[in-house]
Amino acid sequence: MYYCKRALFTLLSCFCTTAWAQQPKLDILTDIAPVHSLVSMVAGEQANIDLLVQPNQSPHNFVLKPSQVQSIQRAQLIIILESDVSPAILQYVDSTQSKATVLTIAQSSEESHDWLSPTHAISWLSAISEVLSSLDEANAQRYAQQATHAQNTLHMLQQQLKAQLGPVKDKSFIVYHDAYTQFADAFDLQAPTAIAQSDARTPGAARLLKVRKIAQQSACIFAEAQHNDGYIDTVSEGLDIGHGILDPLGSTIPLGADHYPLMMKNLVDELQRCMG
Ligand SMILES: [Zn+2]
Repeated sequence: MYYCKRALFTLLSCFCTTAWAQQPKLDILTDIAPVHSLVSMVAGEQANIDLLVQPNQSPHNFVLKPSQVQSIQRAQLIIILESDVSPAILQYVDSTQSKATVLTIAQSSEESHDWLSPTHAISWLSAISEVLSSLDEANAQRYAQQATHAQNTLHMLQQQLKAQLGPVKDKSFIVYHDAYTQFADAFDLQAPTAIAQSDARTPGAARLLKVRKIAQQSACIFAEAQHNDGYIDTVSEGLDIGHGILDPLGSTIPLGADHYPLMMKNLVDELQRCMG
């Protein structure tokens, strides 16, 4: 029997009573905390889920460390985004002829941050459920149930957060790096202006000047939890503009199934606070 209490943010209060088939737990490795959270929603107690990039680190310019090599060696299943992180891992898996199953989740572009769109996250849950079921057939039905439940929850969350952002949807805002295109799409917001247009590139004087002009007409400028630099001040000094901080990896939120919905809610709360 499968029973879940319905409430806003049901993941926080979900009581699922179907027992798992008695199987050894899967050892899964994920790249970033939001993906770790989505996998947790589907795998529940039936897996040990490891994390490669800690939430206070940036996944950009990723280099594999010895401790991380061990995590890859242990893993039966590796679930990663197509990003800066994936080439190093795929290369390692290839070169060691590791038997781990790898699920690489395609993003709309390599530098995209598709996890900030619940629409994408919802579609990934199906792929996660399928790969888990292929490795642990006895629990296939349970994975499918958990995935469907998580999809319903994220769908409701998206509707709720979109409504919350309704009053600020036409306001323009500035972000540190170009990470929020998919996020803005998912919530019908104006596409933000990014100071750094690419993760690899630092903004030059001409770019800073251009963004400063846009900042004069903008409601808010957001620094980022994973990037500590002075560009925000250069662009906004002396201007009448709101200041906020966005955390697209949920660095202060405990890992697990609740991480993703809380991370999204924190982003939306911060946008609303600063632009409202
Ligand atoms: Zn980024």
